[in-house]
This record gives sequence, C-alpha cells and structure tokens, in this order.
Amino acid sequence: MPERDLAYFERLQSMSAAELSGSWQEESAEEFSEMRDVLPPARMGGGAFMVGSCLTTGVAGSLYDVHMHLSGRYFWRPAPLRSWDPLVYRSEIRAQFVGNKCMECGWLGPSKDLHRESFPSREVTHVGRDFSITDTLPAGDVAACPECGSLAIDMNVWLDRNSE
Ligand SMILES: [Zn+2]
Repeated sequence: MPERDLAYFERLQSMSAAELSGSWQEESAEEFSEMRDVLPPARMGGGAFMVGSCLTTGVAGSLYDVHMHLSGRYFWRPAPLRSWDPLVYRSEIRAQFVGNKCMECGWLGPSKDLHRESFPSREVTHVGRDFSITDTLPAGDVAACPECGSLAIDMNVWLDRNSE
C-alpha cells in the first residue's frame, strides 16, 4: 500500500476511470485477507471484493479499494463503485501482469513488445500415405522473440510488475 497522504488523494481524485483501470498492484495473501475481514465488503463475488469504505470521490466517481484473487496471486486498485465488474478486473490484471517468455533465450516481456513477423498467403501441401492435399493459408503474422527471433514463445507467464 502506498502512503495515503494528501498528495495521494489529490492524484486519485484527478484520475480517469481508464487511468485507474491500469493501476493494479500485487499484494500478499495476508494483505488480501486482512482487507477482506476489516469491514463488511461493499461488493463481493468472482474472486473480488470492494472494501466497504469510500476512499474519496474524484472525476471517476466514488472510489473504493478493490482486491482480487487470480490464479494464486493477489491484486488491488482503487476503483469507482459503479464500475464493479470482476470479469473486467480479471482482464485488466492479465493485461498488466501476464506476458510472454521466449523458450530459447529466456526473454520476458508484455505482448506489445513481441516482434510481429508477417508472412504472405502461401500454399501448403499435406502428404499422407494415399493422398496429397494442397491448402492455401491466408496471410497473417506470427509473434517472435524481439531478442533472438525465436517463435517458441510461452504466452502465459506472470510478470513481476511491482519491481519496476
Ligand atoms: Zn528469444
């Protein structure tokens, strides 16, 4: 948790809903349980809850702390009460904390940093014991490692964003 001084609340009040949606931080299981038990939650479900105490009101509306449990990890951010939606929170957390790992050189990073390689439409022939079929594959692109160019990318790896 950051120190919640006057400057913190002033910044919070000026943040848009979009800015708030990208402000997830990781926390420990202990912090998560502590916040869940401190007050009856204002909202609860889908692995998430909103602490039952309004932080402040800003341009995005009345803000409450949301905490979420996802795949054995714990996260929190301030969120407008009216935007309560655990499914949206889940995709926000994945966008912020789940990335890609190169199985060749170990490069680790978000999807936006992957090198996209495009290829033109091409013909591919599948040959079996007693058949041969030619298919036309549409043009498209593949994700490659920006460091070594390998296509062996694991796209489901947790990134540690709190260390930034
Ligand atoms: Zn690589």
